[in-house]
Amino acid sequence: MRILGIEGTAWAASASVFETPDPAQVTDDDHVFIETDAYAPDSGGIHPREAAEHMGEAIPTVVETAIDHAHERATADGASERGADSSPIDAVAFARGPGLGPCLRIVATAARAVAQRFDVPLVGVNHMVAHLEVGRHRSGFDSPVCLNASGANAHILGYRNGRYRVLGETMDTGVGNAIDKFTRHIGWSHPGGPKVEQHARDGEYHELPYVVKGMDFSFSGIMSAAKQAVDDGVPVDDVCRGMEETIFAMLTEVAERALSLTGADELVLGGGVGQNDRLQRMLGEMCEQRGAKFYAPENRFLRDNAGMIAMLGAKMYAAGDTIAIEDSRIDSNFRPDEVAVTWRGTEES
Ligand code: ATP
Repeated sequence: MRILGIEGTAWAASASVFETPDPAQVTDDDHVFIETDAYAPDSGGIHPREAAEHMGEAIPTVVETAIDHAHERATADGASERGADSSPIDAVAFARGPGLGPCLRIVATAARAVAQRFDVPLVGVNHMVAHLEVGRHRSGFDSPVCLNASGANAHILGYRNGRYRVLGETMDTGVGNAIDKFTRHIGWSHPGGPKVEQHARDGEYHELPYVVKGMDFSFSGIMSAAKQAVDDGVPVDDVCRGMEETIFAMLTEVAERALSLTGADELVLGGGVGQNDRLQRMLGEMCEQRGAKFYAPENRFLRDNAGMIAMLGAKMYAAGDTIAIEDSRIDSNFRPDEVAVTWRGTEES
């Protein structure tokens, strides 16, 4: 099975080819190709109109590159099996949401065009479920708790009765967005997360508000307090250290509570903030202390990427979970718990 994936919910114009003999598990014959063109704002944060302009320019190019790659793979493994004129792909998977509407519309239009060009089915993927499924897939874990720590979101999820249930989530801004708003305030270029990670290494811990309510968390107060601290003359490295320790301790606390409440003994991490070493270590240590397993995918699968869209697309396609073009509208507020999980039944049977 060979699936073309297209991602473009915010900053990453990305296309991929995922090829596997069995989408239910990692095999030695799996092959993942990812081509990404990232939008980097000249100043400030992600501007929706500029991001959409970037998508409009970059998506056709990354998609054509992925299609060329699929053709090469098809030729190499004997296209004759399918016939010389046949499609090099079995389906097109695309991120339907959540994300920036103008960007999503460009991705959906490209996906529909490619599906029609090759006369193959379309698969509409929830971007947040893809962030967690890539970790579940690559870890081989059965039923993990999943922490999605990304730019625009922060969720802790657990699977029950055919859906990923949101056990806890941010009550205001996404975790990466909070970090980026702080770094924008002090004049650092986007994205701020890697810079905070670097500066935090040289800093002393500076206390910031710690806000966990039950299973939910809030980041806007931390962001405001961090900005104020820098304005008041606290060394920026200390504020970065305080941000990391505070935010990641909150995420770790809720992840631990979710493991405890669900009785799960596996945790997977997803999302661009998940690239942070300190976050991975805190989660890893917490899991070790309670005898649970922890898995964080490679960075290329943590940040936004079309590989995760194609991987989940392959599972959905195998389960017959495709979508008609007329039903393939985007959903910029597509929540992970709205997705009927069709593919896990197929895997488990
Ligand atoms: P979403 O997936 O919710 O749509 P997104 O589109 O912003 O979010 P991601 O690629 O998941 O995309 O995450 C990007 C975020 O990750 C940015 O906010 C960025 O600052 C943050 N980030 C990247 N690297 C690091 C790091 N090393 N430490 C902390 N944060 C990081």
